[in-house]
Amino acid sequence: MQLEGRVAVVTGGARGIGAAIAKELAAHGARVVVNYRSSADEAQALVSSLPDALAVQADVSTTEGAQALIEAAIAFGGKVDILVNNAGITKDGLVLRMSDDQWDSVLGVNAGGPFRMIRAALPGMAKARSGAIINIVSVSAIRGNAGQVNYSASKAAVIAMTRSVAKEMAKRGIRVNAVAPGFIETEMTSAMNPKVLDAAREAIPMRRLGRPEEIAPVVRFLASEDASYITGQLFVVDGGLSV
Ligand code: NAP
Repeated sequence: MQLEGRVAVVTGGARGIGAAIAKELAAHGARVVVNYRSSADEAQALVSSLPDALAVQADVSTTEGAQALIEAAIAFGGKVDILVNNAGITKDGLVLRMSDDQWDSVLGVNAGGPFRMIRAALPGMAKARSGAIINIVSVSAIRGNAGQVNYSASKAAVIAMTRSVAKEMAKRGIRVNAVAPGFIETEMTSAMNPKVLDAAREAIPMRRLGRPEEIAPVVRFLASEDASYITGQLFVVDGGLSV
């Protein structure tokens, strides 16, 4: 029970990679706040299956939503020890045809969300002189991806944010790291063109997509005391894609 007594917030935790992370943290003793934006049924079903968890609706791309989520977590567990910024969206399109809304909404959720959540969570963590923040980014931020100018830019922003916040907060005992998944089997990838997915599989040395359960243990490790001297780092979990 590596995370016994810890309170964790997982944004976008009702399904996909976020749900696997919520289960993994709970399995190692954490009390977990599962945030969702629209997947209320999935969030309720997940928290009912966990020993000590709460579902909280909030749009993390807004200052009010982020603040309300942290307040709900503190009301539930008295503190926030672990923040996992997992919520993310895609609105793919070629750059020449990309609308302002496609750009603004993806940057707003994927980069604005972690910024607002980190800003809301830090005062409590700084007071406690302890905390672990894990941002879920993407290999798209490293390799770039045709059709994902908005998405790759948003995730690259979060890698830079991870390093900057890590430097700002290290003296206060707060560690900040990022995990970059490759192609993982979730609704996000099942919405992709099958031909693009086939090409991705060919490019992955392991010749398969990853599973959400293969991301979650890395997040759990970074959240735990086993990672006590690790901050500002990027962990790539992609079956070798970016090699
Ligand atoms: P997913 O199945 O589409 O789930 C996305 C989650 O984000 C949903 O739970 C959704 O909540 C939540 N969300 C979206 N906008 C939100 C907002 N404004 N406020 C709160 N929650 C919001 O995606 P996934 O594949 O599990 O992806 C999880 C993370 O991993 C994302 O950051 C994604 O970019 C990243 N990632 C995924 C892959 C992949 O291959 N799947 C690869 C690299 C990185 P609701 O359902 O409640 O709306």
